Amino acid sequence: MPEGNRHRDTEPSETGEAALDRRFEHLSRQWAAGLAHIVGESRVITDPDELAWASRDALDDYRAFGRPRTAAPVLVVVQPGTAQEVARVLAWASSRRIPVVPRGGGTGVMGATIPVKPAVAIDLSRLDEVRVDRENMRIEAGAGATLARVAQAAEAEGLLFAHDPWSLSIATVGGAISTNGMGYLFGPYGKMGDQVLALEVALADGTVLRTRPTLSGGPGPMLHKLFVGAEGIFGVITRAWLRAWPAPEAKRFASFRFDSFAAGFHAVAALWRAGIVPTVLDMSDTPPEPGDPALATLPADQVQREITELHVAFFGLRETVAALWERAERELAALGGKLLGSGPAENYWEERHSVAEEYERHVQRPRDWRQRSSRFRGFEYLNVELPMSQVLSYRKACLEYLQRYPELRAGETGLWGRPEIFSIVIHDVSGDERGAVAMREASDYLARLAQDLGGTMEAIHGPGAKLEPLLQREWGSAYDVIRAIKLSVDPAGILHAGRWA
Ligand SMILES: Cc1cc2nc3c(=O)[nH]c(=O)nc-3n(C[C@H](O)[C@H](O)[C@H](O)COP(=O)(O)OP(=O)(O)OC[C@H]3O[C@@H](n4cnc5c(N)ncnc54)[C@H](O)[C@@H]3O)c2cc1C
Repeated sequence: MPEGNRHRDTEPSETGEAALDRRFEHLSRQWAAGLAHIVGESRVITDPDELAWASRDALDDYRAFGRPRTAAPVLVVVQPGTAQEVARVLAWASSRRIPVVPRGGGTGVMGATIPVKPAVAIDLSRLDEVRVDRENMRIEAGAGATLARVAQAAEAEGLLFAHDPWSLSIATVGGAISTNGMGYLFGPYGKMGDQVLALEVALADGTVLRTRPTLSGGPGPMLHKLFVGAEGIFGVITRAWLRAWPAPEAKRFASFRFDSFAAGFHAVAALWRAGIVPTVLDMSDTPPEPGDPALATLPADQVQREITELHVAFFGLRETVAALWERAERELAALGGKLLGSGPAENYWEERHSVAEEYERHVQRPRDWRQRSSRFRGFEYLNVELPMSQVLSYRKACLEYLQRYPELRAGETGLWGRPEIFSIVIHDVSGDERGAVAMREASDYLARLAQDLGGTMEAIHGPGAKLEPLLQREWGSAYDVIRAIKLSVDPAGILHAGRWA
């Protein structure tokens, strides 16, 4: 019988929060005792502050769109030290139908680590070994290693690890694979999932699966892909074999200014169509100040957005960089780009991790959620992918649609990595609940619109708790297949119990 049910049978009936707390305390003690047999007492945590921290990730309350602050608590944190220990924890949980949630750095912004049912959090931070195989241009990394450790280890061997998100220093290998994260080098190198050659994964029944680290994938399905972007729903990644690339010999940075977002977009699209792929690409406009009279008189997408600035960089062999730069400069200038020099793009590159460093300093190290709420309140950041042909129409539709809401103001719009990856910031200027309601409605509408235009509602992060209500619409006929896979690899439904179910 599942432990939860066994407990329900023996506990005297009580109502209210006190009874609930007592029930959780009881379960927490019971689960901790069971887990201590597997990993040792010192690796089982029940300290209330630690549990509260492990019950959340970096999803800001404001951007949770009405979903509960913490849907359900983590009752125990367990810290296995090997893949076999992870597997034994899963087998133990499966046989008792105890929900588990794998946890990396807890920096996900979609609420993916927040349990739906009271759960055990599997903290993978002890699996942090990193080995670089220089000759074969490969990195073997424990799931709990931070991306920064991987990048530094690669660099020390004269290689490049090509997933470089804002959150490099705080996110882990397992978390980045499970969210299929996107970083600054996405253009030529792809997402985190594209760096993965093979995985070691502990499954819910306690077996440990290892795929073969090859570039070709070998014959048959590339099984490791099942776990890429799966948010830990199908298994717990314990180790990854990752690609390493030659460290660039030369780097060339430049920034350009365009008269309008559309002009910048056409220039960027022309680069891609000509086969000129910048290693780094970031374009954004500066929205008009509130009260600008043009806001009242012109169509939303024609209001002068003061500056559209494009940062590009080319990395690689000296000769390749020189040739690409020469062609790019010519193409961008011919399409209206005014060269601003290399300084702004170099600064942009230097500062690329500063938001996450701030997050680490003010939120993660002191473990202070209030800091997060006061710092990141009142805005939403949509990152969608669209076919190139739809990007400008989507942007126009966003700007027009947002004008319906006096509570909201469209902020910066931009491209990241490729012309298809479009983002828009939306500010809540109401300061009250009406703004939050409007934001929820508008974000939902704009996510659906991206789907309807042949794109995807989220290009950078996983769905998490935040976008789960739109998953069926996003996946279409694949939804039932994905649920069937879940049932077959986790029949007791312990991994993220209650999600994708
Ligand atoms: C300031 C800031 C900047 C950010 N910038 C970026 C960015 O540029 N690009 C980007 O992609 N993201 C960014 N993020 C989001 C976040 O850093 C990424 O989603 C990251 O990949 C999450 O890694 P993590 O180790 O923190 O995972 P967690 O948040 O701990 O977990 C995320 C999901 O993965 C699952 N999971 C974790 N480890 C495992 C494992 N070993 N096996 C199976 N499942 C697992 C969890 O259960 C959860 O579902 C940013 C976040 C912050 C706070």
